[in-house]
Amino acid sequence: MADLAQGVAIGVGGLQGGGLGRRRQCPQSQTHSQQASGNRQAAHSLPLRKTNPGHGSVPAPTPRPFFRGLGVVSRTRDGYGPGASFRNRKAPGPPAKKTQGSQGVYTSMPSLDPILDPHALARALSGVHLIDGALVAPVEGRCFDVINPATGAVIAQAAEGTAADVDLAVKAAKRAQTAWARRPARERGKLLAECGRRLLLHVEELGRLVALETGKALRTESRVEASVLADMFTFFGGLASELKGESVPFNPDMLTVTLREPLGVVGAIIPWNVPLLLMAMKIAPALVAGNTVVVKSAEEAPLTVLRVCQILNALLPPGVFNIVSGDGPGAGAPLVSHPDVRKVTFTGSVETGRIVYKTAAEKLIPVTLELGGKSPMIVLADADLERAVDGAVAGMRFTRQGQSCTASSRIYVHADLFDAFFERLRARVDALAMGDPLDERTDIGTVISPEQFARIQDYIAKGRASGATTTECSGLPTDPALAKGLFLRPVIFTDIAPDAPPAREEVFGPVVCLFKWTDFDAVIEAANDSPFGLAATVWTNNLQKALEATRRLEAGFVQVNQNLVVQPNLSYGGVKTSGLGKEATLESMLEHFTHKKTVILNML
Ligand code: ADP
Repeated sequence: MADLAQGVAIGVGGLQGGGLGRRRQCPQSQTHSQQASGNRQAAHSLPLRKTNPGHGSVPAPTPRPFFRGLGVVSRTRDGYGPGASFRNRKAPGPPAKKTQGSQGVYTSMPSLDPILDPHALARALSGVHLIDGALVAPVEGRCFDVINPATGAVIAQAAEGTAADVDLAVKAAKRAQTAWARRPARERGKLLAECGRRLLLHVEELGRLVALETGKALRTESRVEASVLADMFTFFGGLASELKGESVPFNPDMLTVTLREPLGVVGAIIPWNVPLLLMAMKIAPALVAGNTVVVKSAEEAPLTVLRVCQILNALLPPGVFNIVSGDGPGAGAPLVSHPDVRKVTFTGSVETGRIVYKTAAEKLIPVTLELGGKSPMIVLADADLERAVDGAVAGMRFTRQGQSCTASSRIYVHADLFDAFFERLRARVDALAMGDPLDERTDIGTVISPEQFARIQDYIAKGRASGATTTECSGLPTDPALAKGLFLRPVIFTDIAPDAPPAREEVFGPVVCLFKWTDFDAVIEAANDSPFGLAATVWTNNLQKALEATRRLEAGFVQVNQNLVVQPNLSYGGVKTSGLGKEATLESMLEHFTHKKTVILNML
């Protein structure tokens, strides 16, 4: 394990034991004051570029004061969906003492060698955005707590972005875009492929950090996500030479061609459940196509994506890939509405997706939306039972506490197999070990936040109240260190009405509804009777039935006898309220991150 640069590692150490939402000082001020006091231990392995690291004739961004005020807010939000805002917001604290030479630029950064202690890395990444190639303090000087959902402890503080931070990031991205787009496509592709290689060196580090901040088990979830992240960059890097146009047989005296051109600055808004993969699915195709990006990270999981941004900024020119943390209304909304953002790509809830879409409509810019799901899994009478049960465990993402938009949360089992299926499913989920996400023995980690925990519990209560039979599986961890963790026992509902809330709405938790069926047409109809249309699976050895079901199911991603997660080169995205547009393929890169320019050369 590489040593951390100590100066940044001091960030949250003094905060241990503090209550959530307690007012805190953003950690950079401590760093700077350490440096100012000449503490040599605060020296760092790598100097950071200034916010304007030299763009030729490009003007520097207006220097901003280092901390206009210091204050800390809890990440806890007032409920869910659009308009949710930070609760316990504190007024800005007293102005920080400005350190000589600091202009809001974080003059030091964590080592770029893999850092395998996720707690140390979390502290090192505290209190900054990454804008224009530099780790910078938030303009307003506010931070919010990042909580380990397995213990309730504060592990770091994240910069709370506002419109001012977003503006700096977008301007940096805009300045960088022309030169980035003018690079030969294959050169960009090679850089992206190198990003993939570099990220592979960090799989373990990133897996541990994302396990710490999201509560997803390292072995079953987080490490896997970290490796797919690298693959996404490698894949899109290899597609660079496919950014080609066509020649058009318009007139023999004219050379008529189309060119694929980038859109400009892309705003990418990501959620917390699979932050690395979902970010990569957006930024890798956007970058290789010649766009530059500003990512708004999810307030629950701001650290690992920031680390990825830091790693990749060692390869990419400044301003090409920027990241701002903060909440939706404070940082996400200004990103979408910023006049220089020419494309928005969003993954999150349907409610927020609608808000994003409306703002984009006002600006007349294209959007890609990946929203919710309530994915059906249909098991026919001839299905291989063991294989189908394996598929249900994997598809329901029990190891991720069901926090997946593709979760197979409605399982329709033919009456002939129903009882055996239920018993085996219960036994399989019972056998999953719930515990510390960083422990290699753990299969299931935690739910992300107290709000999400309460929301899932509310759905479980509604299911019970509807008269459904409720079966709780697995067992809560007994380790006292995890007593405050957001562990939740998976629930299987049987005999549940199709219109009961957990059967109809997206729970985003470890709650699955099992239905018994006998009529094929009726089960297809039931599966399609949902506002969502993201994913579906069919389990049968009857090829004819399999094909018929795949044709009739209203979903963007249909699989037979398997339940794979998203992978590069598999088109991913939904129909109905599950979203607009697809991701992860060559076509998605061309359609969503370029426009076609027609050029006619009259040779007469
Ligand atoms: P979830 O409930 O899963 O967090 P959201 O849709 O609320 O889903 O959040 C997904 C992402 O959208 C997060 O990064 C969040 O901060 C962001 N977001 C929330 N509200 C807005 C908004 N009004 N405008 C832009 N982004 C937003």
